[in-house]
Amino acid sequence: MVFENLIGNDKAKQLLIKSINSNNILHSYIFVGIEGIGKKLFAEEFAKAIMCMQENKYCNNCKSCMEFNSNNNPDYMKIEQLEDAKNIKIEQIRFMQEKIAEKPIISSKKVYIIDNADTMTVEAQNCLLKTLEEPPEYAVIILIASNESKLLNTIKSRCMKVPFEAISEECLKIYIEENISKDVTTNMVSMCGGSIGKARLIEERKEIYINLENIINNISTKDLIDILNKSEILYKSKDNIQELLDYINIILYNKNDIRYINCIQLVEDVKTRLLQNSNYDMSIDRLLIKMWEEINEKYSRC
Ligand SMILES: [Zn+2]
Repeated sequence: MVFENLIGNDKAKQLLIKSINSNNILHSYIFVGIEGIGKKLFAEEFAKAIMCMQENKYCNNCKSCMEFNSNNNPDYMKIEQLEDAKNIKIEQIRFMQEKIAEKPIISSKKVYIIDNADTMTVEAQNCLLKTLEEPPEYAVIILIASNESKLLNTIKSRCMKVPFEAISEECLKIYIEENISKDVTTNMVSMCGGSIGKARLIEERKEIYINLENIINNISTKDLIDILNKSEILYKSKDNIQELLDYINIILYNKNDIRYINCIQLVEDVKTRLLQNSNYDMSIDRLLIKMWEEINEKYSRC
């Protein structure tokens, strides 16, 4: 079955399955939604199903499916920014237009995915417009964009919009436990912000995340010197401290306790300080001391 390995986004899934089953494939689509929620995976599966040569589609066995799986299908092409480039340039769109003019070789359709289509320069977009206005009858173009406001209205008006939404935390937790990592905490799932892309990073970050959860969990029970001693991870993570502080904010928020919620502002202040190049160790000291005071002083008053 097409899309059987993809989670969430049931509406998008149904819409695409319906168009495949009814053989009503349009010439251009735009998949829109935040970074990392599976738009590209959906686009690739959709492309494969469109080009499949079997009646029931997405057979995984026909020449088209097999060549697609081995990244060799001549009827398929993906356009994205070249290494180190911020934009998709007009030359890349011109190259695509040369290729799209050639008839398909294996399948009855050709599919072109433009990933990060919102990074196309205005010249590139205007160039693409010509193909969207008069596509060859066998051609399907799928644009993928997280910021659709960067696309010209003339482009958007030529494409069928397929919106993608962040995946619910329950749904994502099940997916992570089945596919990525066992024993994930609620905080780890929150850190993904509904993104499968971020969920894939959990396994390599897990140890750090557990370490941070221990620090915060211990603040109300351990003495301050002990907390400072056991927070080594923060002192040695200068390179990715902003991510670690974001994670601390999630832990604080999920505590659902006003003393911890008050600490979020302290973390935000330190994030800003560090971006302004304040002394690193002193900023971390200060954060831990302030959080300890916020949590324990109010605690003792209760
Ligand atoms: Zn097939």
